[in-house]
Amino acid sequence: MTQSLRYRRVVVKLGTSVLTAGTDRLHRPRMVELIRQIAALRDLGAQPILVTSGAVLAGWEQLGFPPRKRNLPEKQLFAAIGQSRLMHLYAQLADIYGFPVAQTLLTRDDLRDRRRYLNARNALLGCVERRVLPIVNENDAVAVDEIKVGDNDTLSALVANLVDADLLLICTDRPGLFSADPRVDTTAQLIPDVPLIDETIWALAGDAGSHRGTGGMRTKIQAADLATRAGIEVIIAAGEAPNVILQAAQGTAIGTRLHARATRLEARKRWILAETARQSRVVIDAGAARALREQGRSLLPAGIVRIDGAFDRGQTIRIFSEQGIELARGLTQYRAADLGLIGGKHSAQIEEILGYTYGPEVVHRDDMVMVN
Ligand code: GLU
Repeated sequence: MTQSLRYRRVVVKLGTSVLTAGTDRLHRPRMVELIRQIAALRDLGAQPILVTSGAVLAGWEQLGFPPRKRNLPEKQLFAAIGQSRLMHLYAQLADIYGFPVAQTLLTRDDLRDRRRYLNARNALLGCVERRVLPIVNENDAVAVDEIKVGDNDTLSALVANLVDADLLLICTDRPGLFSADPRVDTTAQLIPDVPLIDETIWALAGDAGSHRGTGGMRTKIQAADLATRAGIEVIIAAGEAPNVILQAAQGTAIGTRLHARATRLEARKRWILAETARQSRVVIDAGAARALREQGRSLLPAGIVRIDGAFDRGQTIRIFSEQGIELARGLTQYRAADLGLIGGKHSAQIEEILGYTYGPEVVHRDDMVMVN
């Protein structure tokens, strides 16, 4: 196997059927094998992020498999029990390989609301930077249907977008997308490459899933559609395939690969520009303008000379030169009232002035689009 990586930041989604290896329990040997691959991936310099299912199943297992009602209170109870059990197992396995894990439980609102989006993004990227493996699941213990993402395939696509992943790898109990249902049609062939998710692909998606997890192939195609539109490559492959995670990250053909539809940068720019706060005008001095335009730097509070408007943290704001030229737009880490207090000040003073800090940048370079 070659040692080079094709994708650096990789979101790996593990479905319940993968973690159980087709049984009714979390399958320890399977989980050891998956974490071994994650460890190897880290050693190659990749930045893996796990999105895991299996909490509900683990709770059911712990209670000794009582007859299932499949209603919301039961799911919440099983998830509350099972999530800690699941994390405990992951932490133990990661311990063998000597790296820490961090539990992150999300609901739809954490990903929709721009302020909370920033919080979740910062938390996950903070882990990645410190070489901690984030392990994400939906917060099933408290989530009701209205605030739920609902299935972890979709959750994994939203997380991949959140962290600017290079690859979303959806591990499931099938080798990928087939030309027909392989359970009933013996001529069914694996489709290795999907340049575009079109009508024919949707027609193949069907809706059947396994009885243990939530998603069938349809939710996987939905997730792939979301991610590929956001500029992220997607691979759907069998969790049991030897070295599936390593192979996918190294660019070896495995499962079904769905191509990104736009570049990540284009998609992210569109997203940043999509919701510009109507009343937002941040004027910066000549030094800061040069740093933004010529050196590709982030916007720091020190360069800010004036604020107009009433915007919130997480909104897209407009950045102007003192000559009144709009230079850039970007997601602000601080709301207008905060910027009024820290504008012109050194980043090291932020915490002292506000009593808290969201980091040294007002608009991080990755969250900025130059317009002039
Ligand atoms: N979040 C659920 C769990 O951990 C799984 C949802 C899914 O299978 O898509 O049990």
